Amino acid sequence: MKGEPQAPHVLIFPLPFQGHINSMLKLAELLSLAGITITFLNTPHSHHQLTHHSDVLSRFPAFRFRTITDGLPLDHPRTIEFFAQIIASFDTVTKPIFKHWLISGHFGSDLTCVVLDAFFKNLVDAEDAEIKHPIFGFRTVSACSVWAYLCVPQLIEDGQLPIRGEEDMDRMITNVPGMENLLRCRDLPGFCRVTDTNDPVLQFILKQTQRSYQFHALILNSFQDLEGPILSNIRTLCPNLYVIGPLHSLLKTKLSHETESLNNLWEVDRSCLAWLDNQPPGSVIYVSFGSITVMGNQSLMEFWHGLVNSGRNFLWVIRPDLVKGKNEEIEIPAELEEGTKQRGYMVGWAPQEKVLSHEAVGGFLTHSGWNSTLESIVAGKPMVCWSYTADQQVNSRFVSNVWKLGVDMKDLCDRESVAKMVNDVMVNRKEEFMRSATEMANLARRSVSPGGSSYADFDRLVNDIRLLSQ
Ligand code: UDP
Repeated sequence: MKGEPQAPHVLIFPLPFQGHINSMLKLAELLSLAGITITFLNTPHSHHQLTHHSDVLSRFPAFRFRTITDGLPLDHPRTIEFFAQIIASFDTVTKPIFKHWLISGHFGSDLTCVVLDAFFKNLVDAEDAEIKHPIFGFRTVSACSVWAYLCVPQLIEDGQLPIRGEEDMDRMITNVPGMENLLRCRDLPGFCRVTDTNDPVLQFILKQTQRSYQFHALILNSFQDLEGPILSNIRTLCPNLYVIGPLHSLLKTKLSHETESLNNLWEVDRSCLAWLDNQPPGSVIYVSFGSITVMGNQSLMEFWHGLVNSGRNFLWVIRPDLVKGKNEEIEIPAELEEGTKQRGYMVGWAPQEKVLSHEAVGGFLTHSGWNSTLESIVAGKPMVCWSYTADQQVNSRFVSNVWKLGVDMKDLCDRESVAKMVNDVMVNRKEEFMRSATEMANLARRSVSPGGSSYADFDRLVNDIRLLSQ
């Protein structure tokens, strides 16, 4: 007699960075709510940070948390500056272990499929016949940046790349289909900012991106109303696409209640919520550069002067490792002391989703990381974009020139520009930006409601995983 059908079992493996863990943990929670068994694989270092600062073990008692070495010494800084080294180590040390574990049934004989951070495509060889499990790729970044990456080989072939120095940065890129006359050299993904197209990091990223269509399917944290035309372009190369974002918003729909994200790799300082409660509606610019941006002291000071000079109230996340080479507490410069005390509040790490949805927040000065961008969109808050690397350069161009949700500071870092752009979003062009931000927030929420495009695509993903397990 046949027993009860077994629940499908999905192994989820994110790149060990905050933005990647955030969205893949949300995907894991969503799949788990749909009755799927989850194994969440992390490096020991990320697992330690995650369990230390977020009570994930009690929040997800059904998850099987597992770790795999990244091959780096315990005291390795593991910041984005060492990206190439981290990836190389995964390739030489982690890859053979991961393969052995997959083919030896280490994760359980019931394993249905793997959702791999698409940056990890190297970890499994597409043509490796020993690996029987379907591998889904999850790209944690925007569709517009994925498409730009996919077009880079053509840009090189057509002679549009490399960029020929600083004076070449405003040249228009004319042959990214769907983005003609939109992207300047400075708006291309950050890794393209090299004068030699053989640059090893650029070559690595290109290889990874080109492999996107070797996955069984590709999952994106975006939504149709936001990136529809770009998604159509990507489908020409990767027809099996699930577009299921914004994931944090879909999760709220599925849980049918508000939930605080539990995926922090840093200690969250909730005191800023009480501070926000005492500020007038729409009066605060929230400032955060995400989890991996680093800047010099000079840039920090320009932002600080700009924020104080803007005359707006500000809530600013200054991560302990935000400023290069500074390990001690950052002191308020004497000339900014009064303005900062009057109007500013600083934390090391904020409960960002809650902050963004607070009515006191009127805008977001952001590094344009994809999670932050989606969180701002859902909260209906206009943005001042100061992109740092990778996909962020493309995202910020789309925020300002396509979605009209704010302004793009791209490559400017002086106090006058900071003050001006903050006031553009918070005062001078407030109505215009609030109108488009409210419209886009409604579209985002509609996409994750029953009948919406992301809601339907997620159900399709769950059904397809169920079919694989039969
Ligand atoms: N975040 C947070 N508190 C902070 C700063 C950031 O919770 O003080 C979260 C934010 O909500 C987002 C993630 O960290 O989900 C950052 O991801 P993103 O893709 O925006 O940028 P990255 O850190 O990958 O550059």
